[in-house]
Amino acid sequence: MTFIISMFHRLAVLILVLLFVPLPGHADAAQYPDCNIDVSFDIAQSKIDGIARISLTAGKEVFFRKGPLKILYIKINGLETEFDQRQELFEFTPEKDGAIEIGYEGIFEDSPSDHRSDGIASNVIDNRGISLTGIWYPAKEGLCNYDLKAEFPIGYKAVSEAEEVFKSETSNGVEFHFIFPHPIDGINLIATDRYRVIEDDLDGIYLAAYFFTEDLGLARAYLEYSRQYIELYEKLVGKYPYKRFLIVENFLPTGYSMPTYTMLGSSVVRLPFIIETSLGHEILHQWFGNHVYIDHERGNWAEGLTAYLSDHLYKERKGEGWNYRKQIMIDYASFVGPDNDFPVRKFTGRYDRGSQSIGYGKVAMMFHMLRRDFGD
Ligand SMILES: [Zn+2]
Repeated sequence: MTFIISMFHRLAVLILVLLFVPLPGHADAAQYPDCNIDVSFDIAQSKIDGIARISLTAGKEVFFRKGPLKILYIKINGLETEFDQRQELFEFTPEKDGAIEIGYEGIFEDSPSDHRSDGIASNVIDNRGISLTGIWYPAKEGLCNYDLKAEFPIGYKAVSEAEEVFKSETSNGVEFHFIFPHPIDGINLIATDRYRVIEDDLDGIYLAAYFFTEDLGLARAYLEYSRQYIELYEKLVGKYPYKRFLIVENFLPTGYSMPTYTMLGSSVVRLPFIIETSLGHEILHQWFGNHVYIDHERGNWAEGLTAYLSDHLYKERKGEGWNYRKQIMIDYASFVGPDNDFPVRKFTGRYDRGSQSIGYGKVAMMFHMLRRDFGD
C-alpha cells in the first residue's frame, strides 16, 4: 500500500508539474499543414458541396477519412488522381510539396443511423438550420491550420472555431470566412436564419449570445454569467486563451464546448439551472480540452478536471462539496463493476453511466486527492 501511495505521489507531482507550469501557448502553426475548406449549401436538399485543400510536404504522409461524404474528385498538385469511392481511409505520400484538393458532397438529413451514442445527430442540414459536428469535410488526421469559407442563403448567421470572422455578400447569399490561427484536430459549423445576436465585451474578449428569437430573453443572463465564469477562471487557472467566446443556441439538444464557443441546445438553455452549472463547465473547457488539448490515445483527463473545478467547485462554495463527492462514490458503486471497470487513462468519452462514473467522477476524485495532498 505504501508503495502504491509513493508511486501515486510521484505521478501526482508529475501531473501537477505538467498542469501548472506556465503554458507555452498555442502549438506552433508552421509545423502543421493548412486545411482550407470551402462549402456551400442546398438547404432544401439537405446538401453540402465542398472543396477541401490540404497542403502537402514532400515525403510526409497525409491521411483523411471520408465518413458519410461522396468524394467527387481528388487532385494532387493540380492533377486528377484515381481513387476508390468505397475507401474510408485515404492515404497519400506526396513526392513534392504542394496541395491535395478534394471535391465532395454530402446529404445530411436528421437520420437515426447518423446519431452518436448520446442520441444526437452529428450532421444535420434542414429547415431548422445547419449543425455540423461530425465528418462534414474530408477529415485529415492530426492537427491542421483550418481556414473555413462557408456560403449561406441571405439572412443566415454562422459560428465556427475562429479568432476572426469576415462576412461578405456574394451573388448567391452571404459568405462567412472563419480564421482560427491555431492548429486543431477538427472544426465544427452551426448556422441558421433564426439567430438574434447580443454582443458584449470583457476586457478585450468579444462575448456574444446567438439565440433564437423566442429565447432571446435568456441571452443577457447567459452573457452576465459568462463574464463571471471567465473572471473566476482567469484568477484560478490563467488568462482566457482566445479573443472570443460565444454562447450559441442549437436546434439539436447539444451540450458541447468548442474552442471559442459553446453549442447549447434549445431544450438545454431553457433549463433554469444551466447558467449555474453546465455553462461554467463548458466555459472551463475553453482552457481544459479546447486550449490544452486531449490526446485521446493517452486518456481524456479534461472531463474529470473540468467537473472538479466547475460542478464540484460550485457545490463546495455552498458548503456541499462533500455531498457532490458522496454522489460520485454512490455512482461508482452503482454503475461500475468488474465487467465494465477500466483504468482512468483508458477513458476517452462517456457512453453510459459507468464510463461517466470513471472519466468524470473517479478522475475528479483523483484531482481531489492531489489537492488534499498538495493544497490549492
Ligand atoms: Zn465536459
